[in-house]
Amino acid sequence: MQRWPVLLFLAWVCFLFFAGIGLFMSGFLLTRIELASSSSCSDPLVPPPWERQSLPPGSCWAPQRFSKAVLVIIDALRFEFARFNPAKASPLPYENKLSFLHHLATSQPRHARLYRFRADPPTATMQRIKGLTTGHPPSLPTSIDVGSNFATYAIQEDNLLAQLVQNGRRVVFMGDDTWEGLFPKKFFRSYFFPSFNVKDLHTVDDGILQHLYPTVDSGEWDVLIAHFLGVDHCGHKHGPDHPEMAKKLTQMNEMLRSLVDHLGNDTLLLVAGDHGMTETGDHGGDSEKEVNAALFVYSKTPLFGTGPPEEPEAVPQVNLVPTVALLLGVPIPYSNIGEVMAELFSGDGDAVSAALQQLSVYHINAKQVDRFLHSYSLVAQDLPAEQLQRLQELFSGAVEEHTQLLAQVQGAALVPPELESRLGSLISRFQQYLREARAVCTQSWARFHPLRMVGGCILIAASCLLCYMASELATASDSFYRSCLLYPLLWGLLVAGLLGLAHVFTQEGLDLLLVSSWAAAASQLGFFWHWWGQHPKRAPLVMLLVGKLHWDGRLTVPEGPKQQLLGFSSYRREIWYLLCLVAMLLVCVRLSGFFHQCREEIPQCRPSLFLSPLASLRNARAKNLFYLLCVALLAGLVYAVRSWLRHYGNLNSSDPLVLFVRWGFPLVVLCIACYWAVASSADDSLGKLQELVQVAVVAFPWAVYGLASMGLLLLLCNPMTVFAKDTRESAGSIVTPYLGVPSSEVDFLHVIPQIYKRMQESQKSRLERGSCKATVAAYGLGSVYSAALIIALTLLGFLLMLLHSERLSLAFLLLFLEAFVLLHIHTRARGLAGDAEPFSVPWYAVISWLLAASQFFYSTGHQPIFPAIHWNAAFVGFHLDHSTNLLPAVLVGANTFASHILFAVGCPLLLLWPFVCEMPSSQKRKPKKEPREELQEVEEHMMEMRLRESPEKFSTALLQLGLKYLFVLGTQLLACVCAAMILRRHLMVWKVFAPKFLFESLGFVVSSICLLLGISLVMRVDCAVSTWFSHLQLR
Ligand SMILES: [Zn+2]
Ligand SMILES: [Zn+2]
Repeated sequence: MQRWPVLLFLAWVCFLFFAGIGLFMSGFLLTRIELASSSSCSDPLVPPPWERQSLPPGSCWAPQRFSKAVLVIIDALRFEFARFNPAKASPLPYENKLSFLHHLATSQPRHARLYRFRADPPTATMQRIKGLTTGHPPSLPTSIDVGSNFATYAIQEDNLLAQLVQNGRRVVFMGDDTWEGLFPKKFFRSYFFPSFNVKDLHTVDDGILQHLYPTVDSGEWDVLIAHFLGVDHCGHKHGPDHPEMAKKLTQMNEMLRSLVDHLGNDTLLLVAGDHGMTETGDHGGDSEKEVNAALFVYSKTPLFGTGPPEEPEAVPQVNLVPTVALLLGVPIPYSNIGEVMAELFSGDGDAVSAALQQLSVYHINAKQVDRFLHSYSLVAQDLPAEQLQRLQELFSGAVEEHTQLLAQVQGAALVPPELESRLGSLISRFQQYLREARAVCTQSWARFHPLRMVGGCILIAASCLLCYMASELATASDSFYRSCLLYPLLWGLLVAGLLGLAHVFTQEGLDLLLVSSWAAAASQLGFFWHWWGQHPKRAPLVMLLVGKLHWDGRLTVPEGPKQQLLGFSSYRREIWYLLCLVAMLLVCVRLSGFFHQCREEIPQCRPSLFLSPLASLRNARAKNLFYLLCVALLAGLVYAVRSWLRHYGNLNSSDPLVLFVRWGFPLVVLCIACYWAVASSADDSLGKLQELVQVAVVAFPWAVYGLASMGLLLLLCNPMTVFAKDTRESAGSIVTPYLGVPSSEVDFLHVIPQIYKRMQESQKSRLERGSCKATVAAYGLGSVYSAALIIALTLLGFLLMLLHSERLSLAFLLLFLEAFVLLHIHTRARGLAGDAEPFSVPWYAVISWLLAASQFFYSTGHQPIFPAIHWNAAFVGFHLDHSTNLLPAVLVGANTFASHILFAVGCPLLLLWPFVCEMPSSQKRKPKKEPREELQEVEEHMMEMRLRESPEKFSTALLQLGLKYLFVLGTQLLACVCAAMILRRHLMVWKVFAPKFLFESLGFVVSSICLLLGISLVMRVDCAVSTWFSHLQLR
């Protein structure tokens, strides 16, 4: 069997696809250019000299209003959490808990105010912190940044913290350690606490509370930032509508009450949520509940000129940056596009002086934004020129009027009623300028590189075509591999080498992505060139493709010669059997719909109950019931797998692997059951056991990881599950090949023996020579390939179930059942059709297999959107923060693409299953015959050994199967890529098409790698079988 060429061919095809995906992605997901400039006190955009003289010492740009500020960030503080409605009789757990804020706002209306704080998506904490300090929304395409929540990297751009430090303010931080990565070495003093474990509600908050009041009292700070995480983590663990949330919010309320007691008169207090949360406690997207956070402003000196409006005003989060900067008397960060919250600058004076003060801060703000737009448009061309022109006009008009007005005010040429209306209209002109500038920026920062996108699209399409053609052409001959693999590879390497050389000579930056894309394109060209050279007279390619696909793709009506062979009654029985299978398939599909996650676009959709972890259930009886059900299902799965293996005789030998299946599988189930029990128990109900639980929550998953990897390792070392009953040595044994009817009760229960023909032949020849009278009965040889795959799949299934919430094991059971039914339908349909080519898997089987993989992506509670990612998977077996990003990425990735992994690894079963299942039918037709004919009959029982009979065909079949799988997978990918490219200006592109493309391409990568692994496993078994035979013959 040719192993390496097959694997190499598939790996090469995968590489072609990967290059296409990479090229497209580089054109589709571009990031905004970051400017390195930063603002400083001496910048020429400071106010006119007569105003400047009045600046108190230590102020930049505008007079400092507060010498100190406390910024309390309560992560995921949704607006509804902060709002207080006294009329509400029975508030929900998250309502009316922050009563202290309400108390302040009603008793001191000119000192305190609540705002709606609008977050820009993506609403992940790190992106929000960036927005809250740099003053611009993250450009939308970097929503891929959501994934880099794991990798916090320092902010390079000018930001509020840098400005504060630059101007000699002491910034003290306590809380979420995300800030440590974003602002390394910026803090005067800092107390970081790990943020990554979303199940830990108290570590961060308790740590902050321990340091907060002593720090405030010590006075050794100018700006104090405290980032609490408990509310957010409570949302992730229990959801907002849970008594734990009430506890957490009450704790925050008490914290604020004592904090205000400790504050002085010169201190500004800001309480803000970085984002909100959905009804399930998640965030990351742009739904109303996620972007609607709360902001509360308070000071012991009067802040506002007037009382609060009826309905709280909504302010974008970026507006906090210029506001805080000017209030504290530091320059506004260079790239800020936020707008000052002018009402905070009104002070104590009359309406006119308040308006004049507001105008002066607007003026500074507008000048800063104008400067940013100017320098940005110099380095990047993505802001449309005509809109920039219009903004410029707006700006210069407003500034001109401002100068005129100031001159008139100086000369006292205006009287109050007219003055007030002039001031009001000028303020709204500045506002209009600032708002339009922000809108222009946010819109244009979604830009693309069309050439790369088209290139990526073409690469993927050509790879699909190549897959299809190669799957049709594939033969085991050397000439095929030479012309379709070796030469194209050489072409690709040649081009890559030339580009590398060019790089050496020109000294230009080497874009690895472009080089690999060119290499991929060249090797594809090489394939088509050689193919054309060999088949010049073929029908036009497209006609061939369409016609052939149409022909193969349909489920052929049975019309083969087998029909007569089967006879009418058995034919009818087969049909009924097939119909039952189809009915079962439909039931599976229907049931799997119960596990769906909701998308925000479908408002009336309710997310499945099964998605939330058991810990979130409040009803103890339901919790126990579900727990028992899940454990029973796991046990049922183990039982089913073991009885399948026993049925085919793969459970008889005493090899380590078989022993592992017998004893390791139940042990794994036990560990998972224990982990679920510990993880779903309530936090405070355990009392002193708490510490033990903390250990157990980590220990049990590790036990499962360890056992599963041990099992997989054993599988790799010795994948044979065959028990050989060698009777050659025993005296007087008869030369009877072991048939289906067992001789003893034990055999009858556990064994269906298989005999390999070659052995038989050798026996036969020896018999003829009369040298030996014995035979070898090999139990389980006929299903040795499938057995290895099924063991691997079960182990993977355990791992993936561990990463999901408990009740999704139901979905996994359905997945296994549906895969089983599909395999049987495929086998039966083939039997009925009397397929002439047993070695080629028909298209409909491959397509249905892949459709099932996509179906279970959704039915294991996933959606191709970022908020639906099960981040919790990263903490299965990990209690504290991860030290690397790789491990959590692998865990979350495995969780997300669970169905892709299982179906791709199990793909070779499509080829093997018909051989495994061939036995029963032939056995039934077994007539009593002469010994010689009995030998003939035995050949019918060869099952998978038939594949070994013709190793050439076997390797070709594997190659074909892999190529067909990649072709269908690639077609799906191509559709997503085209959708993303064509609809790139669509309103919903960042909500629907871009995430779908990302998930699909990641799914492709995962699937193709797993497909290679599955096929390698089959080849590994084949190696082992060969060695086994050679050992046997030596004996
Ligand atoms: Zn957050
Ligand atoms: Zn969160």
